[in-house]
Formats: sequence, structure tokens, C-alpha cells
Amino acid sequence: MNRFFTPAELIGEETAKIVGNDVAHISKVLRLSIGDTIELCDGQCNDYIAEISKINKDCVSLKLLKHFPSPTESKYQVTLFQCLPKAAKLETIIQKSVELGVFAICPVESERCVIKLDKRDSESKRIRMSRVAYEAAKQSKRGILPEILPVTRLNKLDLSNYDIVILAYESESGKTLKDVLKAVTHPKNIAIIVGPEGGFAPDEVSWLTANGSYSVSLGTRILRTETAGMAMLAMINYELEL
Ligand code: SAM
Repeated sequence: MNRFFTPAELIGEETAKIVGNDVAHISKVLRLSIGDTIELCDGQCNDYIAEISKINKDCVSLKLLKHFPSPTESKYQVTLFQCLPKAAKLETIIQKSVELGVFAICPVESERCVIKLDKRDSESKRIRMSRVAYEAAKQSKRGILPEILPVTRLNKLDLSNYDIVILAYESESGKTLKDVLKAVTHPKNIAIIVGPEGGFAPDEVSWLTANGSYSVSLGTRILRTETAGMAMLAMINYELEL
């Protein structure tokens, strides 16, 4: 069943509305019609089964048939701080991280990033990345819309609100992700940090560990930057959820 998100303010007791880009997707691409049912989510972990009652060019009107909590969200939230990778890798990273339950993604500018974003570029990119996250959230039946945060320089990150901050450091040989996850009981708000293709500069690792990050190894093999975040999310899900 196709899934759509709509803001809570467009959801009433018995009816709801979808407006914006999804209207054309419903009527022209999926060719759904009156009487068809869809999944609807308000992005705040409320799911609905809804029946299409009316379609016009700007709005799809729905009758709510069933309301239940979204079953797909974890008891913890993982924010991925991803140092800017080359080319279109960021779209892949966003798509796969949303499927793996990420709560938010913050693109990070670090010393060895090849890509440098100017303010204008970064805002238009953020809008595009939010669209990638939206489509992935529909496909993976998420109960929230993972946020794409503004690009931030590494040494300007505010990591003080996290129960645990985990730095994937390619030169770490001691602690593993498993060791560190055991260090904090039932972490709710987890930050994970992944470097760019060139890895982290020593002064960046010093700054991050001095500000409370745990540096961990993800194993003896060197993962691509676009693999590391996914691997961490999968490991965290395994350790904390399954
Ligand atoms: N330039 C680095 C080198 O040659 O060692 C490799 C960087 S790796 C391609 C990109 C990022 O993925 C790293 O900065 C780190 O965040 C993460 N990563 C990859 N393999 C890892 C591992 N075995 N342990 C910890 N982090 C890893």
C-alpha cells in the first residue's frame, strides 16, 4: 500500500488532506482514484489507513479508516554527522541511512573534504537532500521524516545534547562500537561521525575526543565513507534493538 506524509494540521478526527507534490504523484503517476486506500503518516509516529474520497488538482481528500502508532521507529535516535563525500554519494548515504532508521543527518565540512559548499549551494542542496530523505521515508515506511541539518564545520559541531557521541576513526585499533555502546545504558540520543574519503586529520580526532567523542574501530577493513555510516546504523540497531 502506498504511503504518504501530511502535516498533523491537515489531519482531523475523521478526514485528512494531502497537498503539494504528492497530489500529482497520486493522481497522475500512481493513478489512484476515489475508493482506493493508502497509508498516511503525520511524521510524528501516527499512522492511518485512509480512503481517497476526492481528488482535484491541488488536493487529495481522505476519509480516515484506522489510526495506530507507527511501528517502525526505534526507542533511540541516531544522528549521522557525515563529512561531505565526493559526487552524488551523499544522496545514497541519505537514502540508505533513512532505511536504517536514522533520525537526522548533518553534512559536515572537515579538513579533508574534497567538496566545499558555499552558503547558496548548501541551501539548494539541503532542499534536494530533504526530498531524497522524504522519498526514502515513504518507501521504508518511517514514522518520522528524518531531518537534513544545515552543513556545519566539524569544529563548530555542538555535540553536547547527545547521550553518546561515537567517532568512526579508521586508525582506532582498541575500542569497538560494541564496547562503547555498552558504556552507556539505554542511550536515547546517539551521534555518529563518519569521515570523508580522506579520513580524519589528527587534530580533528583530538578536538572530537577532547569534546567527549568515543573513537571506535569498525573492524580491520577500511570501509568507504558511504559504507561506514550504514554499517554503524546496522550495528547499533542489532545491539540495541534486535
Ligand atoms: N583515508 C582513510 C585511510 O586510508 O585510512 C580512510 C577513510 S574511510 C574511506 C572514510 C571514513 O570511514 C573514515 O574517516 C571513518 O570515519 C570511516 N571508516 C572506514 N573504515 C573504518 C574502520 N575500519 N574503522 C573505523 N572507521 C572507519
